Amino acid sequence: MSDQYDVVVIGGGPAGYHAAIRAAQLGLNTACIDKWIGKEGPAFGGTCLNVGCIPSKALLDTSLKFLQARDEYGELGIKIKGASVDVPAMIARKDQVVQNLTGGVASLLKSNNVTALTGSARLHAGRVITFTPHEGEPTQLQAEHVIIATGSVPVDIPPCPLTDDLIVDSTGALEFQSVPKRLGIIGAGVIGLELGSVWRRLGSQVVVLEALEDFLPMADKNIAREAKKQFEAQGMDVRLGTRVTGSTPLSKTVKIQYMVVEEEREETFDKVIVAVGRRPYTENLLEPDSGVNLDERGFIYVNDLCSTDSPGVYAVGDVVRGPMLAHKGMEEGIMVAERIAGHKPMVNYDTVPSVIYTHPEIAWVGRTEQELKAQGENFKTGIFPMSASGRAMASADTVGMIKVLADEETDRILGVHMIGAHVSELVAEAVIAMEFGSSAEDIGLTMFAHPTLSEEFHEAALATDGHAIHIASRKRKK
Ligand code: FAD
Ligand code: NAD
Repeated sequence: MSDQYDVVVIGGGPAGYHAAIRAAQLGLNTACIDKWIGKEGPAFGGTCLNVGCIPSKALLDTSLKFLQARDEYGELGIKIKGASVDVPAMIARKDQVVQNLTGGVASLLKSNNVTALTGSARLHAGRVITFTPHEGEPTQLQAEHVIIATGSVPVDIPPCPLTDDLIVDSTGALEFQSVPKRLGIIGAGVIGLELGSVWRRLGSQVVVLEALEDFLPMADKNIAREAKKQFEAQGMDVRLGTRVTGSTPLSKTVKIQYMVVEEEREETFDKVIVAVGRRPYTENLLEPDSGVNLDERGFIYVNDLCSTDSPGVYAVGDVVRGPMLAHKGMEEGIMVAERIAGHKPMVNYDTVPSVIYTHPEIAWVGRTEQELKAQGENFKTGIFPMSASGRAMASADTVGMIKVLADEETDRILGVHMIGAHVSELVAEAVIAMEFGSSAEDIGLTMFAHPTLSEEFHEAALATDGHAIHIASRKRKK
């Protein structure tokens, strides 16, 4: 093994492996080091592939299909008697998907001539890295450029320490071998809602304890309101403004103590998932002389171009500021690799899409109505309900809406907010529109295939000026 590289990437999650592959494509001699140990041994792909995006979506997909087959197909004239779910088989399929994808990343690294090293890395001054393989002696590598992509780990809360199998984090919640009868979830964020949906669909009675008084405060208020209504109608018991104060694991159940205003309460659950956020991960990564600094919240400090305080050292993904999303890290990784090779790309942080993969799905890009109001922007709103969509009616899935916010004077689209079936896919149209600086009128003048759900984006854009065809409009410009 040569110990000199143009680029060494520390971390092989989405941010790191994208950086490594792009750097190698650009002709740079590149190594990627990752210490993850999966069920089948060392695995690339990080949180996203091993215990995040992919396995959670596998379980969301299976659980939705089960629920629809059991409860909703009858309405379509499809009769299924006695639908049941085999939880170990569902988990085994999820594991197979993970294994295929993590193996796929290892193959991609290889076919791009990236040296893939499994073990841990520690950064010293002068871009020297100590690489300690899972088995064997440490060696030193020298890099012209280092890209740190060490990701994040779940936050724990002192009143609710994790146990072997009663109080778990998101990783444990992907491994239940049977459906918990009563499932407590601490945190009504993205993970709480997604994993709560999985187990609720399979039969759990789900109670979500959320510290804040507001539900999904980062989402547009119309969307958050509709989401809460839908989740509650599905039977998810979301309790806002609760403060968890303690937990008592018993032999098969766990008691959770919490406060609502000044009142103390206690609930018993079969399992509890702690999903109160994630924190950047830099344990055993930086020698004191590395020159890389952390900010006050523990993220690696970087500028807009992901450069750290140490020349030639960059950091990307969850370990730096910004939303903890795989696609944000991927684009940062690619930007840094291209900049090292002398290109000049930038990441547009104004068009990072957010998606919550519940049913209905929730997705948005750009600013919310409440943000625009707080910033004193003059804007107009177009809302189109899914219930007025022919395609949604044909599919018997008419919950939700699309909301377009556009500048009152220039008509430029400032934000697009969606709730409904398949909006995780539809949001890409809004991202492209905003990336190209589209006006609402541009979308209104664009032809969309009929009948599709995409037409609702068209209609919501038309609605900003009162031109939507399939709803009665109160405002109408000529
Ligand atoms: P990570 O994926 O965390 O990868 C970091 C890697 O660095 C790890 O493999 C780790 O082993 C390695 N590493 C750390 N330190 C060292 C070291 N010193 N030496 C060697 N290796 C090291 N995001 C989405 O966009 N969409 C989703 O649907 C989504 N769903 C999620 C569901 C769940 C349950 C969870 C937990 C997260 C989800 N996320 C989702 C978030 C997403 O997983 C992260 O944003 C993404 O994985 C971050 O990528 P990363 O490369 O920065 O870090
Ligand atoms: P989150 O920040 O989305 O939500 C955490 C929630 O827990 C918040 O609502 C917060 O107010 C609440 N909370 C915090 N402390 C609490 C306490 N002591 N008691 C009760 N509630 C408390 O975090 P998450 O859901 O853990 O997800 C972590 C990260 O992973 C997020 O940044 C998210 O972007 C990413 N993720 C993304 C996706 C996706 O893109 N679909 C899916 C899963 C995770």
